[in-house]
Amino acid sequence: MKLLPTPEQAAALQATLRMVNQAANHVSKVAFERNTRRHYDLRKLTYANVREEFALAAQAAQHAIKKVADAYTSLRSNIRAGNLGPEGSPRRAKAESKPITFGPDAAKPYDDRCLSWNHDARTLSIWTTAGRLRNMAFTGSPDQLKMLTAHRKGESDLIHRDGMWFLYATCDLPDVQVLDPVGFVCVDLGIANFATTSDGTLYAGKTLNAVRHRHRELRRRLQARNTKSAKRLLKRRFRKEARFAADANHVISKRIVTEAKRTGRGISLEDLSGIRDRVRLRKPQRVTLHSWSFHQLGSFIAYKAAGQGVPLVYVDSACTSRECSTCGHVDKKNRPDQATFSCTSCGFAEHADVNAARNIASRGATGWAVSHAA
Ligand SMILES: [Zn+2]
Repeated sequence: MKLLPTPEQAAALQATLRMVNQAANHVSKVAFERNTRRHYDLRKLTYANVREEFALAAQAAQHAIKKVADAYTSLRSNIRAGNLGPEGSPRRAKAESKPITFGPDAAKPYDDRCLSWNHDARTLSIWTTAGRLRNMAFTGSPDQLKMLTAHRKGESDLIHRDGMWFLYATCDLPDVQVLDPVGFVCVDLGIANFATTSDGTLYAGKTLNAVRHRHRELRRRLQARNTKSAKRLLKRRFRKEARFAADANHVISKRIVTEAKRTGRGISLEDLSGIRDRVRLRKPQRVTLHSWSFHQLGSFIAYKAAGQGVPLVYVDSACTSRECSTCGHVDKKNRPDQATFSCTSCGFAEHADVNAARNIASRGATGWAVSHAA
């Protein structure tokens, strides 16, 4: 939801974010120095101090502490998953050598005690360090407003971005009965074609890749300038590219889920943990790959499928590009180049991505049968 605060209200929101993030930085420093990362211990150690020194209400103080504990938890799991490189790598060493810090505009979570919505008047009441602000107007698309009224549940995050204020409200949708599939449509994720289904539909990434390329060039020039305004522009560029990619991912995932539902089939998706190993790339491409886009497409497909009752299975993607979807023959030579699949055993030929997608589809059906027998 986009907030429409008056200038005074906006100033109060700004002061609140600043104060809460100062408090979080204080807590983070204590967590680091005392080597205390657990939420409960951290609260015992810092709660009284945070309330007094930063003049925060009870809820706000607890939220600031929880935010810090959560940040350390996700840092730990990122390190464990190897996302910051192996032990001793510079990135990992840097992350472990100092407390986590929060910028003055970092998001702040709100629960129902500090934030209440008036759907009819389209206003809300929100806690700030300047007291409770009432009658703050908000707006959203008709679909978003409908969803908010019917399903909002849980925390909302207050976000300040490019001079605008937003609340990201969590919505909890009821489970939909999962259909019994007559088969599986498979989705193979790639670089040149973002998604390929076993029906032979290719969702080309040409436009998006062109946009990315343009952004990358721009980034390089801005980075070379290395000034404060260049950094700000860079950030804005990055978010623009991210929104563009998210939009493309929404369109693709919606089409795939709609088609599966229409034909009564489930979706099999390759297990994304292996994708970085599978797709070998030249360096500049690697940057875009690591930028979460694949993972996002996978997660969009997953939540849209769940909302439609379309079953989803994850399958191991090993060898799918080398295996013949007709006879099962596995050979590196089956794939003479990026786009071509040509079986050296039975002579079957198809677009390489379509062949891979068929393999994943049949593995999906097997996986579904096994899990349901169990
Ligand atoms: Zn074959």
